[in-house]
Amino acid sequence: MATEKLFLRGRSVGSAEPLLPRRDPKIVAARTIGATARAIERTRRRGAAEPEGPPTPAWRRLAEEAKACRRCPLHMSRTHVVFYRGGPAPSVVFVGEAPGREEDLSGRPFVGRAGKRLDEALGRLGLADGSYGIVNLVKCRPPENRFDRAAALACRSILDRQLELLAPERLVTLGAHALRLLDPDAPPIVQAAGTPRRLGARPLFPLLHPAAALHAPRYRARWEADVGRLAEWLRERPGETL
Ligand code: SF4
Repeated sequence: MATEKLFLRGRSVGSAEPLLPRRDPKIVAARTIGATARAIERTRRRGAAEPEGPPTPAWRRLAEEAKACRRCPLHMSRTHVVFYRGGPAPSVVFVGEAPGREEDLSGRPFVGRAGKRLDEALGRLGLADGSYGIVNLVKCRPPENRFDRAAALACRSILDRQLELLAPERLVTLGAHALRLLDPDAPPIVQAAGTPRRLGARPLFPLLHPAAALHAPRYRARWEADVGRLAEWLRERPGETL
């Protein structure tokens, strides 16, 4: 609205706008502080959102520990710590290698192209949401997606505690590095994939990494066949498996 100035003998003496009630500066300051505090609280609540997984203090503490972890140099380049995707009490946990770009940006494992391939397999396996979980050996993205064995060793205690708290009946490793790190006695992945094993008392099924099926045509048929074997293995009761 245009403001019309009032003039008295050629000098401006004010405007024709209706007078607004004067604001008490103390009230204005208090309201500003209150709004800021509410905004901080909203941000704090968003940041402290429950991590996916078991709704327990131990799991929350572990997720917070991973979020703050600087045990290896990968913390310097990460956007997010990629902790876990899945249900609170999964019967089977898939263990991959390390996050890629999409995972680093979203903070969730296996959400990129390899993740889509894995999701297709999960659909074929008939695993309901919440009945499986997905983790990686390494929680922070390695530069250029090169697998970093030193980081995997530094990160190992987080993985071990995740598996302890999730307590799945079975494990599925994805790719050579996950198998080698969890089961150093396993044969090379090309021989091991598709054949059930045991990791202590726990049944373990090695699969190729879904990225292999995506990028190497020679592994596509092998991936499909191994996923078929995995489906059969999952139908067996844990006591009946290897
Ligand atoms: S990769 Fe693991 S050990 Fe390294 S900084 Fe990230 S959470 Fe910590």
